[in-house]
Amino acid sequence: MTKKVTVLGSTGSIGTQSLDVIRAQEYSVFGLAAHSNVELLLRQVQEFHPHCIAVVDDAAADRAARELHGMPGAPVLLRGKEGLEELAAMDGSDIVLNAVVGIAGLAATLSAIKSGRDVALANKESLVTGGSLVTDAVRENNVKLLPVDSEHSAIFQCLQDEYSAKSLQKILLTASGGPFFGRTRQELQNVTKDDALRHPNWSMGSKITIDSATLMNKGLELIEAVWLFGLPAEQVQVVVQRQSIIHSMVQFSDNSILAQLGVPDMRIPIQYALTWPERVPGPAPELDFTKLHELTFDTADEATFRCLAACKKAIGKGGLAPCAANGANEEAVRLFLEGRIPFLKIGELVEGVVDSEAFGGPYTLDDVYACDAAARAYVLAHVS
Ligand code: NAD
Ligand code: MG
Repeated sequence: MTKKVTVLGSTGSIGTQSLDVIRAQEYSVFGLAAHSNVELLLRQVQEFHPHCIAVVDDAAADRAARELHGMPGAPVLLRGKEGLEELAAMDGSDIVLNAVVGIAGLAATLSAIKSGRDVALANKESLVTGGSLVTDAVRENNVKLLPVDSEHSAIFQCLQDEYSAKSLQKILLTASGGPFFGRTRQELQNVTKDDALRHPNWSMGSKITIDSATLMNKGLELIEAVWLFGLPAEQVQVVVQRQSIIHSMVQFSDNSILAQLGVPDMRIPIQYALTWPERVPGPAPELDFTKLHELTFDTADEATFRCLAACKKAIGKGGLAPCAANGANEEAVRLFLEGRIPFLKIGELVEGVVDSEAFGGPYTLDDVYACDAAARAYVLAHVS
């Protein structure tokens, strides 16, 4: 069946790989959204002929308007944050794939769900910052929230048998360990942005690549898993699997374990989210076991990689603590990429913000944004 898909964040790493899948499946594109890369967005418009596009950055939206002027069959142009939310909710798409980076994706996730649309979610920050808002909205609107993150797709794939799923006991969330696996704090003191941007197995956007180097990504994913699969954090165990071949595992009440394996290629989980519950041939290559010499397992070093410990503490505290951890991390990663703070400072700031308050209790969307702003302010106040 041909589907109509809206891709938010279409110019990014997940966005462009989503369009690879859409091209291969001959799905149609209803909407595309990006922050400011108008050049790539317009090339995507020429190929996929969406009904509507959204450009978040103001100056970029002006550029897009000029380029679209007089173009035959030009898409409707929406602008700003409101434009992104409006596109997510528009009638005409069957599913919204949210591949925006950061808390900037939250409002669009909620907007798509509240308009009754299924969501394929790459934007893990939606669940980390507004987990109860997102999962409540999914229940109230009776829509599907399909994971795109490879670990969560793996877990989801292992839980398709409803009889087994009922006896889920434990999630074994795999982690590559990132470029700095095995290093001591001493050895991490002077690592640079370029060192941190060199991921061994995956090619991704810069923010998530830094998150993989600090293990913040695994902390965010642990929180994401708690919201998606309803297990307490104590039943989610991080397992370092250096080759990124096992994408995660689940353990049932009889201690039987299922794993999902494949080459590290995001087009597999992206495609599964779009074709679920069916499986169809796709663009990702098969795993060649004649070239796979070993699968290794290690534990994560939380004493060195403080972001993971801080995220565990945050989900334990509940309420807006994960949102605060995320906000501090987004700000700290920005400062690290600008060369303004050293690598280890990211973990210190995330941990510091989680320790700074109680955070518990229910919250509204306004509370989420206020907490995010406060966490960013905390970071700015704690860097010289
Ligand atoms: P990226 O930086 O490559 O792309 C981000 C996209 O979001 C771009 O299209 C950009 O235009 C858009 N964007 C940025 N700021 C925005 C804003 N304020 N408003 C609207 N759009 C904005 O990032 P990515 O690596 O593709 O990651 C996207 C999301 O997917 C993240 O949440 C990440 O954690 C998650 N994810 C990525 C991977 C991966 O392999 N890259 C894997 C799993 C999960
Ligand atoms: Mg992942």
